[in-house]
Amino acid sequence: MEKPNMKIMCVHAHFDDLEFYGAGTFELFHQKYSDQLQALSLVCTDGRAGHQFRTRDETAKIRKKEQQEAAEIGGYQTEVLTLPDGSHPREGCLILDTDFMAALWHSIRRFQPDYLFCPPLTNHPLAGLHIDHEAVANAVRNIAYMINVPHAFTPEYPTDETQSESIKIPVILNFFDRYQKSLNTPHDIAFNIEPVFDIPLHTTYTHQSQIQEWLPWVDPDDFSAPQNLAEWKDILKNFYHANSRKMGIIPERILEAFTVTAWGTIPSYEQLIEDFPSMDTEASHLGNLQERLSQWKS
Ligand SMILES: [Zn+2]
Repeated sequence: MEKPNMKIMCVHAHFDDLEFYGAGTFELFHQKYSDQLQALSLVCTDGRAGHQFRTRDETAKIRKKEQQEAAEIGGYQTEVLTLPDGSHPREGCLILDTDFMAALWHSIRRFQPDYLFCPPLTNHPLAGLHIDHEAVANAVRNIAYMINVPHAFTPEYPTDETQSESIKIPVILNFFDRYQKSLNTPHDIAFNIEPVFDIPLHTTYTHQSQIQEWLPWVDPDDFSAPQNLAEWKDILKNFYHANSRKMGIIPERILEAFTVTAWGTIPSYEQLIEDFPSMDTEASHLGNLQERLSQWKS
């Protein structure tokens, strides 16, 4: 039976992160909830830095347009995080400060997601990282408890309310993150996104300034510039297969994977199973998850 009013939110660093790490899963949520689903992608940086021959202004403008096109295909809203002074955080140097936390608190309270997806924190001293991914993970973890603290950031977002609405704290899950190589915490949940692969395919394909220009330049081992959509499909499948190997799933599959945190509300195992689209039981570690959730809730 369909559960009404499911709200899912992606909080990530860059234009394209949701498309590369979660667009298939968001589509599975769409199929489960149809028009009862509301989905939002919040991008926490201004997208100005990652390009080798375009100016910062030009890059930002293109990235924003590409993101909008991806969101229309994927059926989610998208917005760029706005700091209390009206500006957007700079790509490549995102740090955990009060303004960043205040802006995140404000956005999450406005949308009130049931489930929030964000990057993981680096948990191994040898793991690689992207500074913006790490900062987003850190910020979400740090403000999670504050989501239901009404006046936590009213100096930044002034209000004189004396009767505050109680805001539900979401269940918070981490995306798989390839910057950490294979040193990430083992995932809990994996979804077989092969049946909905058209959505990651087309949403990532809108990011032309990345897949044609930036990624082949910065990461030539993994990306070459595709001549057309069919070529991009092969490159993207290779990307997913590499992720599958890093997740320890061989032979390789087309999967998206997530880890449940105790940063926000701790769900019961039964609630997760009821709320989520069908998980891939072979590629998930549901026994470990069930045990961990019951320990957290005990
Ligand atoms: Zn990113």
